[in-house]
Amino acid sequence: MAGVLVLNATFEPLAVVSIRRAICLLLGEKVELVRSSGRKVRSERLSLDEPSVVRLGRYVSVPYQRNRAPSRRGIFARDRHRCQYCDGAAETLDHVVPRSRGGGHTWDNLVAACRRCNAAKRDRLLPDTPMRLAGRPGPPPPSVWIEVAAGTIPESWEPFLVDKRRSA
Ligand SMILES: [Zn+2]
Repeated sequence: MAGVLVLNATFEPLAVVSIRRAICLLLGEKVELVRSSGRKVRSERLSLDEPSVVRLGRYVSVPYQRNRAPSRRGIFARDRHRCQYCDGAAETLDHVVPRSRGGGHTWDNLVAACRRCNAAKRDRLLPDTPMRLAGRPGPPPPSVWIEVAAGTIPESWEPFLVDKRRSA
């Protein structure tokens, strides 16, 4: 279901749009073609390279996504589907500070966790357990939203997303 990755003029990933929308932007000269999928788009009047990545001609400033409410998909994408305690495959969301102890449903208090770690932690605070977090959780970078929006990341997008990914 991946569409076309739209980059800001600064090459910062911005959004994912449909191929049809990207072609409109291209024909309207709002964007330039950065990467093609290798396929051709043909209609009666034109034949052009099917876009995979396009870049805006003019910079747009985007409100930061910090205020966006945390979602299960967003947390899993940010944490690369790994348990933030043991690096195993994550299946659950864990509140680092348990809700029963006043922990919020926020980006900096939610992590992906495997069932085993989640169960072992129970409603204790981290210092009362032998468990440690892989990194400090926080709001995800824009590339995570791109991944959530697209479902899968085509290879041609990787160079534009890879640097922005969390290394933790
Ligand atoms: Zn675990």
